[in-house]
Order: sequence, then structure tokens, then C-alpha cells
Amino acid sequence: MSRIVEIVNAIEGYDPDALHVEKARAAIRACLAPVREIERVPVREALGRVLAENIVPGIDVPGHDNTAMDGYAVRFADLGAGATVLEEIGAALAGKAFGGSLGPGQCVRVTTGAVMPAGADTVVVQEVVKMQGTRVTIPPGQKARQNVRYAGEDLKKGEAVLRAGRWLRPAELGLIASLGIGEVQVRRRVRVAFFSTGDELASIGSTLKQGEVYDSNRYTLHGMLARLGVEARDLGVVRDEPAALEAAFRDAATGADAIVTTGGVSVGEADFVKSMMAKLGEALFWRIAMRPGRPMAFGRIGDAFLFGLPGNPVAVMVTFYQFVREALLVLGGRTGDCAPLLLDATAAEALRKVPGRTEYLRGVLFRDGGVLKVKTTGQQGSGVLRSMSEANCFIALEHARGKVAAGETVQVQPFDVLA
Ligand code: AMP
Ligand code: MG
Repeated sequence: MSRIVEIVNAIEGYDPDALHVEKARAAIRACLAPVREIERVPVREALGRVLAENIVPGIDVPGHDNTAMDGYAVRFADLGAGATVLEEIGAALAGKAFGGSLGPGQCVRVTTGAVMPAGADTVVVQEVVKMQGTRVTIPPGQKARQNVRYAGEDLKKGEAVLRAGRWLRPAELGLIASLGIGEVQVRRRVRVAFFSTGDELASIGSTLKQGEVYDSNRYTLHGMLARLGVEARDLGVVRDEPAALEAAFRDAATGADAIVTTGGVSVGEADFVKSMMAKLGEALFWRIAMRPGRPMAFGRIGDAFLFGLPGNPVAVMVTFYQFVREALLVLGGRTGDCAPLLLDATAAEALRKVPGRTEYLRGVLFRDGGVLKVKTTGQQGSGVLRSMSEANCFIALEHARGKVAAGETVQVQPFDVLA
């Protein structure tokens, strides 16, 4: 295994003391290798997992030409320039085909999804025809082959429809089921161990002493990890003591693909963590040109990648969403772009910003008339977790950008796109 430091040093423009957000992303990505183990699971359990095989249909879907509307199946050649009277000779229902075949001047009543009757090539919708006994009058203006769905139109036998690396969403579960496939091969879940560090942290259930705060980071982390569908192991609060930290890191590294910690990477705290990490594995201490979330450690202990996030509650969430989320998806074997979705919106107010760092403001995205606009949640301190709770997006202000005037276009990352 190459050392991480060698891999990241090869990235152009890599500077650990003033690291551009995009360089940090690239550095992390360059080091990761997806988990390799594969397991077979029933289709329902494959939700949120990463496909480890190509899905090749053994059948056409739909399996036969069928009707897309309720109405009458006709032979287009029978229809004249004016109204045409046809003779109804039977019916084809969904799941109940018509046994015969259409001759000249004949039609068959059909419901949506019925097998196309032999001899017919066109379907005329119910609403436009006139019926008198078995005489059916078709108005002019029909188009050849209208309202027919063809065999294999959705999925073609023998043509791979999903490839390994696909993240499986509800649509993919349905698609796999439509092929009659009951089990699929997926990569095993990524295993993540996490803990908070800090002498000032109290756990829920204890009474706060002077200077203590309740540990909230493990709860936001729990939530973010659970949403990603990883196997998360919570190792609790660890005191800022070398022996306790070393024991926690050793424990975390056993069996995990990634370790996520919060706190202990800021200036003043980093030194003893640094030497301890160097003893256990490899860690790079970065100063990222971003706000919030400037200090961050990235490294490896044993087989586990290490993400040492800052302690401030908002910084934890921002660094998780900008770096860790994507890294865990890649570790899980997902291919394609996993970066957060970026949309353009109009700034509804002026925004303070200095060039030279990427800033992630907590924003509220809303519609004003036809225009997508965004405003901040107000107070933006990196300890103000309420700003995350009130937000529905990050306003991602690019590295080189200066202050933003109301009315300018800015980029936003929405929190919840259809899950
Ligand atoms: P640190 O990065 O360890 O210097 O912490 C920065 C700030 O975040 C300090 O005000 C900490 O008290 C706070 N903090 C650190 N860890 C947590 C946590 N787990 N829950 C809530 N606040 C925290
Ligand atoms: Mg601390």
C-alpha cells in the first residue's frame, strides 16, 4: 500500500497549510479503494446498497406488444379520411388476451395493458368513439400505431440495464423485480467507527458541571452515517488523554473501513494527537481554505481511513458533507458522481464573503414568484447548530469570490433531494 503522503503530494497544487476544498476532495479520492467483499441479498434489502454485478434481462419488458389506453384495437389501413364504422368482434383485457385475429373492417375492445390482438396495429381511445350495438364509429385523424407499447420497449432481453457500481434506489428495486429477479449481488456495507473527543463533553444523562457541554456531535454523526446506510459503531466520548485516545483509535481501527472523530485537531490540541497518530498509522493535518471547518486530519490507521473532523458542531456537519460523505460512498463501491448537487439560486440578501476560502453558509431556499431564491438562516457561528436545523441548503460560495450583492447568482447544495 502506498503511503498517503506520497499519493497526495503528487496532486498539483497540494498545500496542506492552505488547502483548496477541491484539492482536499481530490486528495481523499486519490487514496481510497472500495471495499471488495460481496454478498447476495433479497431485492428489498438491496435498497441503498451498491450493485456488484451487471443486471442483464432474461426477458423483454414488456413481454409482448400491448395497449397503452382503454379503447379499440383497429387495423390502421381500414380507417378512411372521414369517420369509419367498424364491427366489434370481442375484447382483450389486461391479463386476458383475445384469442382470434382481426380481419378487414373489424375491431376489438381493449383495456390498458392488454396483449395487442393479432391483426391490429393501432389503438383508438374510448373517449372519441361512438358505439351502437357492435357498430363502432371511429372519427378521422387517428395516427398509425398510436397508443401501442412494444415488447422490449422498457427493457430488452440480453442488454445490461444496470451495471455494477449503481446505487440502488426504489426505481431500481422495481426494475429488478420487473425482470423476475429475486436476489442481487451487492457490495458489503462500509463499516465506520466514530467517537467524540474533548474533556468538556458530558454524555446525556449526566448533570452538566461548570464548563461542560453535552456531546451533540455523536448524534449528528449518527444521523448522517445512518442516512448513508453504513454500518456505524459508536465508541462514545473519549477524553483528551493520550492513553485513552490511543486505546480508542486502536479499537476503532479493528474491523472498520473508516474512522470518524470530532475535536482535537485544532491548533493547540493537534500536537499530541499528531504524535500519537504517527505512532499508530499515518495522518495528515490539513488547514483547509474553507469556513467553517478549517482544521481536519486525514490519514489511515491499519486498514481504516481516518477523518479527524473539527469539534465545532456546524464544522462537523459541513466537513462531513463536503468530504466524508463522498469518501464513504466511494469506499462503498459507488461509481459516477457522488458530489453534492449544486443548483443556482438568486441571493435574496447581500452576503459577506472574503476571497481565498470556500464558505458554506446555512441557507433557506425558497420560491419567490418563478424565481429560486436563497437567504441565510441568520447567525452563522460554527457553534450555532440551530443554523443547520433551520437551513434547507448550504450556500456554497466559491474560493475566489468576494462579497455578494443581493440579486447575484450563487450556488446552493440542497439538503434533501427526493430521498
Ligand atoms: P475543538 O475542535 O475540540 O477545539 O472544539 C471546538 C469547539 O467545539 C469547542 O467549543 C467544543 O466545546 C465544541 N465541541 C467539541 N466537541 C463537541 C461535541 N462532541 N459536542 C458539542 N460540542 C463540541
Ligand atoms: Mg477539543
